[in-house]
Amino acid sequence: MNQTIEELRSFLSQPQKIVITTHRDPDADALGSSLGWASYLLKKGHEVTVISPTDYAANLRWLSGMEHVLVYEKASEQGKCKRKIEQATLICCLDFSALSRLKDLGKVVQEAAAPKMMIDHHLEPEHFAKWMVWDTTAAATAQLVYELVKEMEGGLPAEQIFDIPMAECLYAGIMTDTGSFRHGNVTPAVHLAVADLMRTGFDSSRVHRLIYDNAPLSRLQFLGYVLCNKLTVLPEYRTAYMVLTEAELQKFNSSSGETEGIVNYGLQVENVIMSAMFIERKGEVKISFRSVGSFSVRDLASTHFSGGGHKNASGGRSEQSVNETVARFLSILPSYQEELLSVD
Ligand code: 5GP
Ligand code: MN
Repeated sequence: MNQTIEELRSFLSQPQKIVITTHRDPDADALGSSLGWASYLLKKGHEVTVISPTDYAANLRWLSGMEHVLVYEKASEQGKCKRKIEQATLICCLDFSALSRLKDLGKVVQEAAAPKMMIDHHLEPEHFAKWMVWDTTAAATAQLVYELVKEMEGGLPAEQIFDIPMAECLYAGIMTDTGSFRHGNVTPAVHLAVADLMRTGFDSSRVHRLIYDNAPLSRLQFLGYVLCNKLTVLPEYRTAYMVLTEAELQKFNSSSGETEGIVNYGLQVENVIMSAMFIERKGEVKISFRSVGSFSVRDLASTHFSGGGHKNASGGRSEQSVNETVARFLSILPSYQEELLSVD
């Protein structure tokens, strides 16, 4: 780590053309960490462009700097994205560790000449980056950005390094990746980072409201529909799951942001330790898994559903039909039964 910091410090002592990118369907940690890092690099006099592989949820639009984020999937912005990547002297990859998480943008980044830097907390990283700030014990990528910036600045007080918009971006990432400070990834370091960021004077309650209490009525109605009609609990496997077809999503006019987080509700059922959500969208099935305690949904997602992520929050996808995918999920549950039943 020290050598990486030294090398980065030296490399960043000259103005660079920097592209920052993050995973598809970016969440608050993906975009919050990217925009927080971008804001630091801009202050240091670099030229910075943030590129998201796909569009993002409406409740993240308020993050500072979002108005300049380019979306690779938008036909009108793709040319500019490609030019920025071609001209870049550094490409920073935040909150993902496998280029496949960039969708079509992955190939462009892979083929780019610029050195890459990874800031991430996912398991089993691919080795495409020259510099890696990578720690799977970190609760959020935003936490790693906070620590990196502090270290780059030689431990200067937070109020001299961070400003309110930057602190809000990093706080948004830490808050959401810890489930508002309640998941097992919360450590003293998390609270210390947040305490330090709060010295800038930003309003943490406002950030919480903007992210969680800022939904269109249709999202709540959709949630009600899902919980009433689509949640199945299998007590014998301590598992809850939900299946949403494309027709249902269309009926509720649901965008990707409106399904975000719904999988977590499965874990609120007593005794349930794994929750899964299957969403049929654009010819594939996107799957989200959540668990508590020692049961690893990351292993399940990577073994059976071409996915990955964290021990307690993972995802995957399937090219089979939604019915076939769910049938496959149900057929593997017996092989996990003993493990599921043994979780505290
Ligand atoms: P979500 O369910 O919110 O989409 O994703 C939960 C976690 O799983 C995230 O940390 C994300 O990085 C990871 N994840 C989601 N989908 C995939 C996937 O298709 N492949 C991999 N490797 N990780 C995924
Ligand atoms: Mn993250």
